[in-house]
Amino acid sequence: MINDLKEIVAINSVEAPQSAVDAPFGQNLRNALDWFLNKASSYGLKVGERDGYCGWADYGDRELPLIGILAHVDIVPAGEGWTSDPFTLREEDGVLYGRGTSDDKGALVAVLHVLKRMREEKKKLRHRIRLIVGCNEETGSRCLQKYASECEIPVVSLVPDADFPVINSEKGILHTDVEVSVDETFKQNISALHAGERANVVPGKATVKFTKDSEVIEELRGIFQNINSNILDIPEISDAVKKVKAKFSDYEIIDGEEGVTITATGVAGHASVPETTDNALWKIFAILRAIMPQSTTVKIIFDKLCTRDCTKILGINVNDERTGVLTMNMGVADYQNDTLTLKFDFRLPITATPDLPEIALTYTFGEMASVHRVRFSENLYVPEDSPLIKTLLKVYCSVTGKRKVSPLQIGGGTYARELPNAVAFGPTPPKRQTNIHNADECVYIEDLELTKEVYYRAIEELDKLY
Ligand SMILES: [Zn+2]
Repeated sequence: MINDLKEIVAINSVEAPQSAVDAPFGQNLRNALDWFLNKASSYGLKVGERDGYCGWADYGDRELPLIGILAHVDIVPAGEGWTSDPFTLREEDGVLYGRGTSDDKGALVAVLHVLKRMREEKKKLRHRIRLIVGCNEETGSRCLQKYASECEIPVVSLVPDADFPVINSEKGILHTDVEVSVDETFKQNISALHAGERANVVPGKATVKFTKDSEVIEELRGIFQNINSNILDIPEISDAVKKVKAKFSDYEIIDGEEGVTITATGVAGHASVPETTDNALWKIFAILRAIMPQSTTVKIIFDKLCTRDCTKILGINVNDERTGVLTMNMGVADYQNDTLTLKFDFRLPITATPDLPEIALTYTFGEMASVHRVRFSENLYVPEDSPLIKTLLKVYCSVTGKRKVSPLQIGGGTYARELPNAVAFGPTPPKRQTNIHNADECVYIEDLELTKEVYYRAIEELDKLY
């Protein structure tokens, strides 16, 4: 199993543009999928694929109904800061380091070895077990959407791409764009404003550029000259800046012939957990709010949207006992042709409809803006006392010896929402640090062994249940 993981980690399977008819996500993902199909078939499993979007390996007779297990072979880019080469699996004290070890190649290989074991044992089951492997989980799950519309649907599916014991709720995901026609003050003073690339990421950097003949530029220059550039000592600015808890070192100011540019730095992160981040865009609007008090565009954006209380201010702070709290992220800002485009990501508990934040935004901006829905992905919610959740918890407890475990609720999305009767189940045990999407991503060998054992038993139990 570890040797297999070593081979698949060596493939840098980040999504790239289509490179061939059967390589919609680039050659590296084609290679990664081929690796899986060849490996599974060398273990005596029957394999298939759909146009390079996804592939699968089956154990069991073709006439039997399916139980599905969904993993993905694509990864996020390696990024900086690794202790050793991210594509060379390295073991240290029972921990395996490498991009994809935890998300999601480790689980993929562990489940592949469960199927291998079942075949070696010639295990008798009432279902055929299919490991489905997608190539586009990190960048849109079009792989699984294609599977869902064109391939055989399992009666029940498990997704080893989150945490143990089991995830019974994934919030709804709403992406909404707001196009703001900015006011005259904004137009006269600002030539560029930019932050973020994707709605689902909290921006860690944001930049605003003032026009050469901006009315506020002299004021800005004067202020910064007078106080040796300590932004918090500037009375005109300090209130707004303090509100977003910015420090002087968060700002960089460049005064050039083309005008003044201010860049703010925060802490980037995932939109589903905004409380762990620090939105750089808020810091830019803090400066704008202080020096352009007459701009209603800035006033609305800063006062209502650039604060931890934003959902409360908008009146959309839904908090549902079973599925958690509504979260909001202003992930992208882009100013062009007198229009400021803001991109939002909302994570909705089951009691909030996607209309709710959109109506609130429409009301907040009034005539000034138009609000467009870009994407909505429904909640996934399986009741705690459903046979599926109860069975999986029982299996997890029996393997680990744990007694009191409860299902988890997350704001992120997994493959589970792409197929009916599916839940995310493991593979990361509670409180385990695996540096997912970060440098030195890792998986514990004992966790891979646990995943193998838990999945083997879960298949046995689901085989009886369905
Ligand atoms: Zn994943």
